[in-house]
Amino acid sequence: MNEYDSRIIENLMIKEGFTPSKDANNADIVIVNTCSVRGKPESKGIETARSFKRKGKYVVLTGCTAQQRSEELLEVADLVVGTREFQVIPNALKKKLDRRMYLDLKGTCDFYFSGRRTNKVLEYVAIQEGCDNFCSYCVVPYTRGREVSRLPEEIIKELKYLEDSGVKEVTLLGQNVNSYYYKGADFADLLKMVDEEVKIPRIYFTTSHPRDISLKVIRTIKDARYLKPWFHLPLQAGSDKVLKEMNRGYTKDEYLEIALRIRAEVPEATISTDIMVGFPGEGDEDFAETLDVVKKVQFDNAYMFMYSIRKPSPIYFKNKDISIDDVKVGVRLRTLISEVNKGIYQRRKLMLGKEYEILIYGPARKSPKYSKGKTENNITVVVPGAFSEGEFVKVKVEKIIGLTPIGYPLNVLASLTNDFPLNRGG
Ligand code: SAH
Ligand code: SF4
Repeated sequence: MNEYDSRIIENLMIKEGFTPSKDANNADIVIVNTCSVRGKPESKGIETARSFKRKGKYVVLTGCTAQQRSEELLEVADLVVGTREFQVIPNALKKKLDRRMYLDLKGTCDFYFSGRRTNKVLEYVAIQEGCDNFCSYCVVPYTRGREVSRLPEEIIKELKYLEDSGVKEVTLLGQNVNSYYYKGADFADLLKMVDEEVKIPRIYFTTSHPRDISLKVIRTIKDARYLKPWFHLPLQAGSDKVLKEMNRGYTKDEYLEIALRIRAEVPEATISTDIMVGFPGEGDEDFAETLDVVKKVQFDNAYMFMYSIRKPSPIYFKNKDISIDDVKVGVRLRTLISEVNKGIYQRRKLMLGKEYEILIYGPARKSPKYSKGKTENNITVVVPGAFSEGEFVKVKVEKIIGLTPIGYPLNVLASLTNDFPLNRGG
């Protein structure tokens, strides 16, 4: 979501005549778009702003931290702009408006389209803003405000623009896309509309809330042409007691039922998740329930975090003293990562010997002689060869290194003799 917002801000600035600088150190104005979902990114955003301010730059601080900490940030920034007013930035800079803070949360997302422009292969489109869920650990409802769904016509217009610009993949964004609703159209209706009217080769969405995802959505993906089968379904925790304390609105069994239903209905679908450890009051037996879900589902990818106490999340006011010691939480996180990785490895092994169409999105991290691309169901595969961004390459997965599948282009494989040293397997 922040990446999307940053792109919109950048384009709004360009439209008003500002020139982007490759290196912030050479810029006159530095815009820091912040995240405050956990303590670390929040401090990082503030420190980044502070260091540029010390270097004499004009600093604009925007995003969730700006929204939430507002006035105290005027010390590290010249202009503080919240999550729903960033369209004011170019004008505030050009016309030297006298206000230094813009924090209205009632705005809608109407200005998104005016900031559209792209030369990218992978893009995003916000379909809603804000969140009404109030999970007890989370600041998002306070930093991004009430949930608002965007007009379907606006979404389609933006998608068509991206289609015409040659974008190959788009992710529809929202904090809880399943609760999308606009005048009688629910999320599945929107997806159907998108699939019928837009011809971008790969369209995904995130984030799905396990409480709200419907069978209608799962089946829409199953039957779709351009919507591809990847579900990001944050688990957060496996224990019913903890889930209740988190105000997540589902039980462990309900989560398992949805995940297993996705596996059954759309066998080629991948499922990724977010999991947190060390939530206040999480006992060893609660953590064991999380591990149990991980074993049963075998996720295809996961983001894992240590709980971070956030003001003004509801739990901050209720339970701030019941914390678990950091060492124990650290051990839990390592145990969780290792269990999740076992599942990922099992899932990756199923890819061995199979053919996939890979969308290349850049050079591999370790060597420019290799490229990084994604399968339709959103798994990154490393491909030998320097391919161009945006190219589609047919590959066969011949090895898994660590957790990364290595896919050899089919035309290369066809020209190889049998004794070419491809080691199958781990
Ligand atoms: N709307 C999405 C995600 C929002 S934040 C959803 O509900 O899934 C992304 C992830 O950050 C969350 O899924 C959660 O795992 C994590 N997160 C949010 N608040 C956190 C906190 N206080 N401490 C640690 N992790 C947190
Ligand atoms: Fe935060 Fe919950 Fe909303 Fe996600 S659904 S943004 S975790 S309050």
